[in-house]
Amino acid sequence: IQSRLPDVGTTIFTTMSALAAEHQAVNLGQGFPDFHCDPALTQAVSEAMAQGHNQYPPMAGAAPLREAVAAKIASLYGHRYDAASEITVTAGATQALLTAILAVVQPGDEVIVLDPSYDSYVPAVRMAGAVPVRVALTAGSFRPDFDRIAAAITPRTRLLIINSPHNPSGTVWTQSEMLTLQELLAPTNVLLLSDEVYEHMVYDGLRHESVSRYPQLAARSFVVSSFGKTFHVTGWKVGTVAAPAALMAEFRKIHQFNVFTVNTPMQIGLARYLQDPAPYLGLPAFYQAKRDFFRAGLADTRLKLLECRGTYFQTVDYSAISDLPEAEFCQWLTREIGVAAIPTSAFYGDGFNQCTVRFCFAKQEQTLRTALERLRRL
Ligand code: PMP
Ligand code: GLN
Repeated sequence: IQSRLPDVGTTIFTTMSALAAEHQAVNLGQGFPDFHCDPALTQAVSEAMAQGHNQYPPMAGAAPLREAVAAKIASLYGHRYDAASEITVTAGATQALLTAILAVVQPGDEVIVLDPSYDSYVPAVRMAGAVPVRVALTAGSFRPDFDRIAAAITPRTRLLIINSPHNPSGTVWTQSEMLTLQELLAPTNVLLLSDEVYEHMVYDGLRHESVSRYPQLAARSFVVSSFGKTFHVTGWKVGTVAAPAALMAEFRKIHQFNVFTVNTPMQIGLARYLQDPAPYLGLPAFYQAKRDFFRAGLADTRLKLLECRGTYFQTVDYSAISDLPEAEFCQWLTREIGVAAIPTSAFYGDGFNQCTVRFCFAKQEQTLRTALERLRRL
């Protein structure tokens, strides 16, 4: 068989979760909570199912959910998307990202991704027959380097993919960075794909700079969200994408032949659950407490903490402990210390190594405590 993705193997998240299970390690690798979601949410979904919401919803998603999402975006970010023509429910953010790319990118087009970048972006670009152009975020700080981004834009650039709060580094873009981006893109035809799955995990009083806060950016953007992250249900695989009607029309052409639509009872349940903003408005405080607990514990280890302002990931520098490459260090850490992590090198094209690994702190306090006890042995 001639492979569509010849140099792609199994994702690092699958690999590390399997290794963690094999060695009974505390799995701080793949990003998912080890605690239950709000029972009110599962109850809302069970009720929807029991009430008979079990046939196909509209192709773009159940109307009550699209309306709830449009209302949420309007109240949080001040931009009113039309629920009928500008919001689509997807099978998680992953499908939204791939579908957006397939919708607007032609074979041979260039798509800029900012490294370290989430592992699905580059394969998705390549599935579209396009050319990924990897531009590094600033070393050390992981902030966008606009000179480098500007230099990477050519007449063939069709799309730029951004991600704030950023997986894996936990950086959060500032208002001034968003305005610089807006200025940079203004004279171009470059579209923007903004991966905002961690929009409700922003700490220290910072605010999430959604692209939808910036009308000139929103006019050229797909904005991607995921209920899996926001409501502690990564296994549900339900997300949304928002975009101006003309872009969304193209998105839906692909979506209808990709998944057609997404399961009904979860959409109805989520629509009802979204009527109360408290669960997502409470998320920064909930996760900030976990971040602070985990960071305080790591301070007693030989791992050096990098900044974490958003997401449920904490990146650490292990150069005081080992000079193994990141992937090997993660394997060693899982086998010998009993804690699984993700190598930052997995988010680069060439496996660039900087002696940093990512831990997920979306865990019960007891899980984090056990991991910290083990990490103190380093
Ligand atoms: N983008 C980023 C940055 C992510 O971290 C993830 C999940 N780890 C996704 C997209 C995919 O989200 P979903 O599970 O909703 O497909
Ligand atoms: N997004 C999750 C992470 O970064 C993993 C999702 C997956 O396993 N593909 O850990």
